[in-house]
Amino acid sequence: MKKVNISIIIRILSNHVKEFNPPLIESVSENYRNPFFILVSTILSARTKDSLTEKVCNILFKHVKSLNSLEKISLSKLEQLIKPVNFYKTKARHLKELPKLLKDEFNNKIPKDVDSLVKLPGVGRKTANIVSAIAFGLDAIGVDTHVHTIMNRLGYVKTSNPEETEKELRRKVLVKYWKKINYLFVPFGQNICTPVSPHCSACFIRKYCNRVGVKTKR
Ligand code: SF4
Repeated sequence: MKKVNISIIIRILSNHVKEFNPPLIESVSENYRNPFFILVSTILSARTKDSLTEKVCNILFKHVKSLNSLEKISLSKLEQLIKPVNFYKTKARHLKELPKLLKDEFNNKIPKDVDSLVKLPGVGRKTANIVSAIAFGLDAIGVDTHVHTIMNRLGYVKTSNPEETEKELRRKVLVKYWKKINYLFVPFGQNICTPVSPHCSACFIRKYCNRVGVKTKR
């Protein structure tokens, strides 16, 4: 198996990323420059397509613009606003729990570090890393299924879930690249290294890839 040079791969993907739609969170952070919006949109995006989450966020953020307005809105109204996203009832419940928890435990502020963020309802490690990196500019690696799958296909890590992949990436990737990983690999996974049958013939990093576990490709 050839050795994977992640710096070269990151450089190549950086040159191509503009060809694809950016991950949801990048457009949210451009349109709504505020940790509150970034946290809420990331919670809503779990197991839901970015394009759908973005539509829901644009509607929701007309009604809910702060922790204060989130506290005031009724659960049923919130459910109605976010209904198109998967697991909307659970997500609405988690969102409604946020204001009180932040008041009680975090001085009414959204925490910046991953270990504190994961204590919030509906926030797993991926969400926590993305919020920490995008909303607060801290070094963090948001690992979703795309990042996890691609890193394993490349042969850069050998892991069985995104949490393990995050740990390995934190150990192996230079810190200066951490914030770029999600931004580069999510659109690449949505468009080229797709979960089922990746487009290897159109892939601009194919000569660096070991295609581990790839059985069908295009
Ligand atoms: S060569 Fe195929 S498996 Fe490897 S990164 Fe490219 S699309 Fe993914």
